[in-house]
Amino acid sequence: MAYEDRFGQQAQRSKYDCLLFDLDDTLYPLRAGLAKSVLQNIKDYMVEKLGIDSSKIDDLSNLLYKNYGTTMSGLRAIGYDFDYDEYHSFVHGRLPYENLKPDPILRNLLLSLPYRKLIFTNADKVHAVKALSRLGLEDCFEGIICFETLNPIHKNSVSDDEDDIEFVGSTSTSNSASNTQIFDIINHFAQPNPSLVVLPKTPIICKPSEFAIELALKIANINPQRTLFFEDSVRNIQAGKRVGLDTVLVGTSQRVKGADYALESIHNLREAVPELWENDIKSEVAYPGKLTSVTA
Ligand SMILES: [Mg+2]
Repeated sequence: MAYEDRFGQQAQRSKYDCLLFDLDDTLYPLRAGLAKSVLQNIKDYMVEKLGIDSSKIDDLSNLLYKNYGTTMSGLRAIGYDFDYDEYHSFVHGRLPYENLKPDPILRNLLLSLPYRKLIFTNADKVHAVKALSRLGLEDCFEGIICFETLNPIHKNSVSDDEDDIEFVGSTSTSNSASNTQIFDIINHFAQPNPSLVVLPKTPIICKPSEFAIELALKIANINPQRTLFFEDSVRNIQAGKRVGLDTVLVGTSQRVKGADYALESIHNLREAVPELWENDIKSEVAYPGKLTSVTA
């Protein structure tokens, strides 16, 4: 793609104008151990707070994660009701954040890239801000698209938040019925023809649902055709590809279907995608000030 610059010369216009980054296990490596700890905390929450039999936890969390994107989303679908903030603080509150160290290499890479840069995570805002601060990257992004962005809690009281999102998804987050029937998903998949019964729907919007990705793009005013999406999750990469994003799988150099690029580490970005630096704009893009989640 070429266009004429102000001196009438042909200049190469970059293929992208936005970089969209997953956070966990993408901007820092899996070996930091946070993912393992998250998984254990989710299982503990299911036993301690929801009273689920510990013998069922492994099967249940696997099935929910597989079918609903996140275990939390699946728990809501099969009938459990709980406070989202309480869940997030239980799951993220005890993480080994001390394993996340400032990453000046990544910081310099990000600051040298003259594009819009945003975070897109299924995690909540508290976790995202804390992890980014630990990594020393808090001012490298325009904003964070997080759990609360896609799942705003609409209270009955009048909100003084003027950033009213035109919201097309389900907004129901409260359930007054505490004796809701729980759908037995383990038994469901033990049946000879589980596909004959439709699984209950979840009110939670999260990756890898294409709807969630499209909603995130819409809220942040991102054109998928001009955006590069960084992720460690193969299924999120493939969903991103289906909605028109170019994709970079992070954490392995083995490319999979749906991934345009694959990097062992985000630190290899310059070698793997050199064209990101090959355009006519030379500037540092930093975002001083407090990181906010994207609300409009
Ligand atoms: Mg991730």
